[in-house]
Amino acid sequence: MIKRVLVTGGAGFIGSHIVADLCEKGYEPIVLDNFSNSSPKIIPVLEKICSKKLELVQIDIKDKEKLFNFFKSASVDAVIHLAAYKAVGESVEKPLKYYENNISGLVNLLLAMQEHKVKNFIFSSSATVYGDAKVVPIPENSPISAANPYGRTKLMSEEILKDTAFSDKDLSIIALRYFNPIGAHKSADIGELPSGIPNNLFPYIAQVALGKLPHLNVFGNDYDTPDGTCIRDYIHILDIASGHTAALEKIASGFKGFDVYNLGTGIGYSVLDIVNAFKKASGIDLPVKPAARRAGDVPRSCANPDKANKELNWKAKYNLEEMCKDGWAWYKKHPEGFV
Ligand code: UDP
Repeated sequence: MIKRVLVTGGAGFIGSHIVADLCEKGYEPIVLDNFSNSSPKIIPVLEKICSKKLELVQIDIKDKEKLFNFFKSASVDAVIHLAAYKAVGESVEKPLKYYENNISGLVNLLLAMQEHKVKNFIFSSSATVYGDAKVVPIPENSPISAANPYGRTKLMSEEILKDTAFSDKDLSIIALRYFNPIGAHKSADIGELPSGIPNNLFPYIAQVALGKLPHLNVFGNDYDTPDGTCIRDYIHILDIASGHTAALEKIASGFKGFDVYNLGTGIGYSVLDIVNAFKKASGIDLPVKPAARRAGDVPRSCANPDKANKELNWKAKYNLEEMCKDGWAWYKKHPEGFV
């Protein structure tokens, strides 16, 4: 039976929503985080949402000794591994920082699990591994590639997991390839906390709506798409979170080996669609300006979610309106984050 679930990166945007979902479904999450890209102030907020005290482990996964010590007494049933760096631009400038954290950190975690016979693992992967896919909506068996060190860490991590699962037939490992998570918890008390100027579209739009940034730069308006801007598969963070509990259930029902699933809605929206949906949800007029294409952007990225729908018995249930409404509610309520 899977009860105690270690969530590495459990204080982050995705992690905190997974922890809330685990609590709601009767699991006992353990939050592991080094707060490198999150705030300890989220913990009491999460405890309020979960209506219980949470186990918190402040460890850096690069610290093998501390990680091994933790596993010695933790009696963990499963690990959901999110703790990783994710800024594409920084990964180009500091590739070794990314390989050390995202790859060595993963290997440390797998070694600690091996030592303490923890067999169940869910990995946070990304649609970035599909690159500029030929077939869109993208099925899991599309060719994978990476255009930058960040993407390569996701790709390599999946390979490492496949090899590890092959070497021990008792292991159950599922990689979830996220498309574009946005939105926030219904309480509006946890959400994405960008540090500095956001790279991603939704947090950038929110900062413009809050008056912190003057306008949105729309990166490229001459792509081969209906309105010329890039298309992505935006998915509510609550649906991303429930994808993890669905994967845990698959493991609990006897799945062994390695498998990978897309977490997306299957519906693509352009940058301008998001701007318009946000305007409608917030009632705020967003100044936008056309800007040059951003290097490395693919014109279209959209999931084929059939495999997860069928095999995980999971389906994204929130629409774009709710993503914008819930995301904006969080930014409006906490314009400075957790203070
Ligand atoms: N985008 C934009 N302005 C911004 C940030 C993003 O026009 O300030 C566009 C970006 O070029 C892409 C889409 O919004 O077409 C989604 O970008 P994001 O970084 O959120 O996701 P990703 O491209 O990594 O899927």
